[in-house]
Amino acid sequence: MPRQSIFHWQFNICSKSKVRGLSLKVFKTKKEVLKYSRKSAAKGKSIGLVPTMGFLHDGHISLVKMAKKKSDRVIVSIFVNPTQFGDPSDLEKYPRNMEADLAMLKAAKVNAVFAPEIDEVYDKEAQTIVETTKLSRIMMGKIRPGHFRGVSTIVTKLFNICQPDLAFFGEKDYQQLQVIKRMVKDLDMPIKIVGVPTMREKDGLAMSSRNVRLTKANRKAATVLSRSLFEVEKICANQNMTTTKLDKIIRQIISKEPKAEIKGVDIKDAESLGTVKGIVKQPVVAMLAVQFGDIMLIDQRVFTPKIAL
Ligand code: AMP
Repeated sequence: MPRQSIFHWQFNICSKSKVRGLSLKVFKTKKEVLKYSRKSAAKGKSIGLVPTMGFLHDGHISLVKMAKKKSDRVIVSIFVNPTQFGDPSDLEKYPRNMEADLAMLKAAKVNAVFAPEIDEVYDKEAQTIVETTKLSRIMMGKIRPGHFRGVSTIVTKLFNICQPDLAFFGEKDYQQLQVIKRMVKDLDMPIKIVGVPTMREKDGLAMSSRNVRLTKANRKAATVLSRSLFEVEKICANQNMTTTKLDKIIRQIISKEPKAEIKGVDIKDAESLGTVKGIVKQPVVAMLAVQFGDIMLIDQRVFTPKIAL
């Protein structure tokens, strides 16, 4: 389809919530999506929700595919949530392309998209927040104070608005996945949370909407994240190690890349994200946050030490 006509039908979708002949419904209001969800439930159809901030790539689509496998109807939300950004310029520069996103979601055969404006989501007088008190304060919570409060609050709102039976989150944002699992358990939300493995580019870089903002040189340098993770995974599978040693190895590998500035390295118990003392005997997760120019990238890897194999 020529680019011009793609734009036209996409524009039609955006301007109307349902276009005749097209099965992709695009909802802009909470009321519409809640109605859709309730109607689906009345018909005995389970709903799978995939929350995203848009500028979709194959990583997002792998969540959609998993959602399609496990639920009768799939809703994808596209909302760049301002309350999870600390730095206003990071929020402003976050890449957006609604037309391309809708084309990808239509091709992936999702049932509905919820793409609200900020004013539709947040009441001006809003004062209620949701926060996991411990999990949100380590690693990314230290680097970006308030980030997980914004995430838990918007995800709670999306759960209330879309009423899903299942919700799908990427392991790439591993701490986020654990925060959401904890929140759902603590607040008795009747939703099954499904974690989906990280999709990577051919050279190992974890797919991310932020990757397009990397300069060519930084894009090349950014492969150091996955390289360091795969390396410690290999070492840990062959030798008895402590998290302190693994942490040191990761930092040494990343430090060899002059364009990389380490913001955080943390190796924790893969389930609880608690501290692991002594020789690692259980599955652990290594979480990285590394800055390239003005872009911070994150990556993670779960691995099992030799002693537990
Ligand atoms: P985002 O739009 O970056 O907020 O991401 C929306 C969802 O997609 C989150 O649950 C992410 O963890 C997930 N996601 C982002 N990148 C990837 C990836 N490379 N592989 C798998 N899931 C991803």
